Amino acid sequence: MEHGERYAYPILLIKKLIEDNPSSELVIVYDIACKIHSHLLKTKQADIAEAVELVLPCWHAYGHSAACQVLFSTKWVSGCGLTDGEGMERLWAYLRPFSAMTKEMTPAHRIDLLTDALTHYRDMKEHDIIESVQARSEKAEMLAKQAISELHLLLQTECDGLYSQEDVKKWMAEEKNLLAQKAKQKPTMNWKEQYVSKLQLYENLRSMLAVCEGDRVVILNEHCEEMNNELINIELKNDIGTRWQATDPEFLENLGHLEKQQKITLLKKIHQDVAEYSFLQELRRKYSDGQKAASRVSNQISKASRAIDKDVQRNNDTNFKTNDQFPRHISRHDVLNMEHYMFSLLEDQSVGDSVALTTKRKAVQLLRAAHRAIEEEELSRREKASIVGYYTTKLNEITEYLEQQEQQVEEDVSLHDVGFKCLLLQRCNKLQNRVSRAHQIFSEFGSPEYIVMYE
Ligand SMILES: [Zn+2]
Repeated sequence: MEHGERYAYPILLIKKLIEDNPSSELVIVYDIACKIHSHLLKTKQADIAEAVELVLPCWHAYGHSAACQVLFSTKWVSGCGLTDGEGMERLWAYLRPFSAMTKEMTPAHRIDLLTDALTHYRDMKEHDIIESVQARSEKAEMLAKQAISELHLLLQTECDGLYSQEDVKKWMAEEKNLLAQKAKQKPTMNWKEQYVSKLQLYENLRSMLAVCEGDRVVILNEHCEEMNNELINIELKNDIGTRWQATDPEFLENLGHLEKQQKITLLKKIHQDVAEYSFLQELRRKYSDGQKAASRVSNQISKASRAIDKDVQRNNDTNFKTNDQFPRHISRHDVLNMEHYMFSLLEDQSVGDSVALTTKRKAVQLLRAAHRAIEEEELSRREKASIVGYYTTKLNEITEYLEQQEQQVEEDVSLHDVGFKCLLLQRCNKLQNRVSRAHQIFSEFGSPEYIVMYE
């Protein structure tokens, strides 16, 4: 199968889901949500990407870059509540023992057995759905309260009460921006800067040509000529009579602009890589060694760490000629300090608040936790309404059917009818129990809203 085709199946399913649920807010949790998302954008299907929320399961997200995490993890995307999105993994874990059992079976038997197993799984889920939804909503309420009070305390103690939740929202947006945007943007150059950059390249090629031997001379010579032609073109177009020399004030001025832009681009990249590194480091601290989440994050940390080493190397290898306020030689130690003065040279850095990054991140994490927990409360409220609604509808359907039968068949009752009626009455009884159980549990813990929603 071609690489692109592998996305075709999930995309087909997503389209079908959108078609079938035109008015719902769909959140689709998928191991490669980030890849599907960028594939959709690349293949001009942005409308699909906008119609649904594509999300990474929370534990899987730890194996992705920080950018993927802030854009796609269930912990960051609004609307996810407290779901970890790993429900399918639990189903696979439940089904795993059946693989040895069904391996030698005929396909028909295998399907039968797996159907039984899955029916049992569903029954187990249904058996305690009332209690589990109630437990979920209580947990959500508790977590929301806890996160909000911790956030309040943090803002009081570590930020002297100078900042509000609104500020934390801003910090969250900043964090997302910083980690999610990739420093791909190449500096834009005017013709003078382009001319200077080509002049430099030409000089470099010529000095290389002077020392090389053999076949390479021919190739380099060609390059030199090409570059010279490009330079001549620029000179003709812009009326430059004599070629600029490396000592000309105009050359130096434009070289200064050029180098400053290059330096800023590099600095932005360093800043992002370091932000990613420290973000992952903090995430790693939450888990003890040997935990799967820890090793997933550790892999990402090594990647981010290598990127930083490369950045430092690149910075130190680049020999800028003009004088500026940027440090020429930096060490890994310098860049890992996000408060280092070189980062304050980035213009779009948010200035004006003196809150430490770690504090900001703690606050952002608490606010996120609060948001997700509040969403979870809302989601479980809806689920309660739909549980009561489901049972009541079923109950009404059966009762109505039984009443109809009662009127129609007075005499001539077969044994089959008696048995069927008996089964239905049993079912009615069970449903009645479920409905009253739901009412009892849900209202006992003070959430009468679900009834309003249902009615
Ligand atoms: Zn990813």
